[in-house]
Amino acid sequence: MGDMTLKDRLLSALEGKQVDKVPVCSVTQTGIVELMDEVGAPWPESHSDPELLAKLAIANHELSGLEAVRVPYCLTVLAEAMGCEVNMGTKNRQPSVTAHPYPKDLEGMEMPENLLDKGRIQAVLGAIKIVRERVGPDVPIVGGMEGPVTLASDLSSVKSFMKWSLKKPELFEQVLDFAAEATITYANSMVEAGADIIAIADPVASPDLMSPDSFKNVLQSRLQKFSSSVNSVTVLHICGNVNPVLDYMADCGFEGLSVEEKIGSVKKAKEILGDRARLVGNISSPFTLLPGPVDKIKTEAKQAIADGVDVLAPGCGIAPMTPLENLKAMVVARDEYYA
Ligand SMILES: [Zn+2]
Repeated sequence: MGDMTLKDRLLSALEGKQVDKVPVCSVTQTGIVELMDEVGAPWPESHSDPELLAKLAIANHELSGLEAVRVPYCLTVLAEAMGCEVNMGTKNRQPSVTAHPYPKDLEGMEMPENLLDKGRIQAVLGAIKIVRERVGPDVPIVGGMEGPVTLASDLSSVKSFMKWSLKKPELFEQVLDFAAEATITYANSMVEAGADIIAIADPVASPDLMSPDSFKNVLQSRLQKFSSSVNSVTVLHICGNVNPVLDYMADCGFEGLSVEEKIGSVKKAKEILGDRARLVGNISSPFTLLPGPVDKIKTEAKQAIADGVDVLAPGCGIAPMTPLENLKAMVVARDEYYA
């Protein structure tokens, strides 16, 4: 088992098979300003240019030691291709959706023809191919994207989406099914381009925004459809304190569940999951990885491994101003843990 490749180790860990040591990587966004400067691939340009997109992603594997390459750096690629307006952000601010195609009702809603040729989708698929060529077959590639719940709310606006969830269940379910179909198509195109793992971030599915009852009765079946229709290992990331829905998340069919430090106890979370899913996380991106210091990062990382995380990772997207040194500290901590 000492000869496990990074890809074998990460896939095995997510599938619940035995590994020689816990892998360390990020299933959430990895772009940091320090590396943008180092390799000349700044945001916002590197969101749209496949070469720059690949370059920055590879940098945060080769230079930090994180054991996967993760693309892209936002949750707006599919939303934009589906008709949302996007503000591309700045060097240290991620792109965000600024206008929605179906804010009032779903009249005229239909899948764009040639969806995969819209917006930046080909840039992402091109970047995945470049990454594979450069890192070879043994380094895992994580394709990141918005989940179906977040896409549905981007298409309709958070306000309408919330309102429909309470008062117009037909519209709510209709936009969710539509979004699920689009996310599956896009995810499988990333798998075909070379992604080994699809990691969706679905912040709008958080108990901070949607009730646990909604999650169980309406969202869960869409997430199940996603995981069963995507031809790769899948990871579900939901922000915030997900304890009220963790049991339901475990039944969504994803190999990995990526969670924040806000869940509190890793041990308790592992008990809830049982053998239904593996836990990915949960070093605080804003409160530990961004400010450091290195000693604190190492202490928390070793504790997370001791408590049973299956993949050591940031709890959420890495803050762009995070120093490279702090990401390296997670890797060092993992190595010291097994020394
Ligand atoms: Zn998050």
